[in-house]
Amino acid sequence: MPEPPEQSQQSDEARLLQEFLSNRDLPCPVCGYNMRGLESNKCPECGATLDLRVGSTDLKLGLWITSVLGVALPMGFAAVTAFIFFWLGLDYGFESDLANILILFVFAAALYAIVLGLLIRKRRGFWQLSRYEQVGLALLIFVIGWLAVALLVAAIFNL
Ligand SMILES: [Zn+2]
Repeated sequence: MPEPPEQSQQSDEARLLQEFLSNRDLPCPVCGYNMRGLESNKCPECGATLDLRVGSTDLKLGLWITSVLGVALPMGFAAVTAFIFFWLGLDYGFESDLANILILFVFAAALYAIVLGLLIRKRRGFWQLSRYEQVGLALLIFVIGWLAVALLVAAIFNL
């Protein structure tokens, strides 16, 4: 009796995995155990289920992560500041100055969240840029991300 297609594809992948590892010294991605000569799709040492994937040596995530942090960290700062002013408001009342600062930081955090969402959604576009373009964009995002929140703080506290 023929196997159902899904199951046959699964056993096909397990077979390819075993074939791939029959003559290669590669570590289990979970525990580091050498998987040469693997006889199932599970690591004999830690029991992790393994699969065969396609990777790319071109995919270096450092610059993209730098860009994400350039947005995510100031976003966190703006959100925490908004939270602090919210608590101050609960204790001392939401006078107009305090309410304005609170709204500004909530607005800033929301703006950062939108940019962060875009950065994550458009990540493949980022990864396809040349190395120089990635460096430039990462630097730009990081500098603008922090500069914007620094200017906001400076403006509010008249520094
Ligand atoms: Zn393992």
